[in-house]
Amino acid sequence: METYLDNNATTKVDKNVLEKMIPYLNEFYSNPSSMYNPARKTALAIEQARSQVAELLGVSNPKTIIFTSCATESANTAIKGVVSHNKTKENNHIITTQVEHPCVLSVYEDLEKKGYSASYIGVDENGDLNIDSLLKKVTSKTILVSVMHANNETGTVYPVEKIAQEVKKINKNVKFFVDGVQAAGKIPIELDNTDIDFYSISGHKFHAPKGIGALYVKKGALFDPFILGGHQENSLRAGTQNTAFIVGLGEAAIIAKNTLEFENKEVRRLRDKLESGLLDRIKNAKLNSKSKNRVPNTTNIGFEYIEGELILLYLNDLGIYASSGSACTSGSLDPSHVLRAQKVPFTSLHGSIRFSLSKYTKEEEIDYALSEIPKVIEKLAKISPFQDELKKLGM
Ligand code: PLP
Repeated sequence: METYLDNNATTKVDKNVLEKMIPYLNEFYSNPSSMYNPARKTALAIEQARSQVAELLGVSNPKTIIFTSCATESANTAIKGVVSHNKTKENNHIITTQVEHPCVLSVYEDLEKKGYSASYIGVDENGDLNIDSLLKKVTSKTILVSVMHANNETGTVYPVEKIAQEVKKINKNVKFFVDGVQAAGKIPIELDNTDIDFYSISGHKFHAPKGIGALYVKKGALFDPFILGGHQENSLRAGTQNTAFIVGLGEAAIIAKNTLEFENKEVRRLRDKLESGLLDRIKNAKLNSKSKNRVPNTTNIGFEYIEGELILLYLNDLGIYASSGSACTSGSLDPSHVLRAQKVPFTSLHGSIRFSLSKYTKEEEIDYALSEIPKVIEKLAKISPFQDELKKLGM
């Protein structure tokens, strides 16, 4: 049975989203910047989507939403745009966490090479952020702080509203960017009346297609635009707007907003069933998603003394699809930077698997996963070089 448990990598496009998009690919194809009537229809569709995304993010002014090609672009726009706008010889300090997605960490590393000074804040063994250490790093030289809302590998949720508020108490000029990709559509978001300046989302994580994202820019938060050209998106992001995909993002946003509570209840129930079922049935299983604050769809479990890539290959043969970390870092044999930051012991670091569900996950899939995964782990335990250690665990 095909069992897709990798929804943090990407999700299936909702049929209602697809239906709303199709007319904008052939029937209403005008360039939204053109002056004639059909073009006004496409321009209006974009504005409606902007309002829908604003609603998902708890933002009363839709003009604060800019459409982008993906959340990687949104993060690059916010981070590079803020530092470029604010850099002086004295102001060159930027802060983030050790557990960010590569779309933030790589930009920070690149900025370090260009002469910026960066601080990377750690997390504790549960994956929670050390907020006091972060606040201690904020000085008059700090220009940007980036903290993700929910972690893509463990699902840990960080209190970004509170962190932004505390940061601004120390230095009100600091700009605060939040990678909200794994939070949007999973937990309520209310950006109005917060100190968050920039917030990024990605359509393909909540049932819109890949290749469409958005960036919230608080009124008055200045940055140098990343993509230059025409005057689209209020001259903040050039390039002819991808009308059909923007319409899809708007529809997905409004579906997510309206069904958040119900979906979350069911997704959480299935996630908890999978998680407790695996921990009960498998003696070398250790929970990595230990924070009390996490999104409802994710769990990360380490299987001690077993190689994660092997687990994934065996699961693949059974039609069970999961992942060992961020899709953007798969292919690298390095263990997850998120789990290393959390000090997950080496015994389960290499055998850690992320399972992520969605509103399309069915009970039968969870039952199938619960019946097959323990057999796979048992098989792999038999060929592990750590027989003595596994025996001690009763395997
Ligand atoms: N940020 C987080 C937390 C993610 O999980 C991802 C995708 O995996 C991204 C950013 C990048 O999103 P996109 O694929 O839209 O560039």
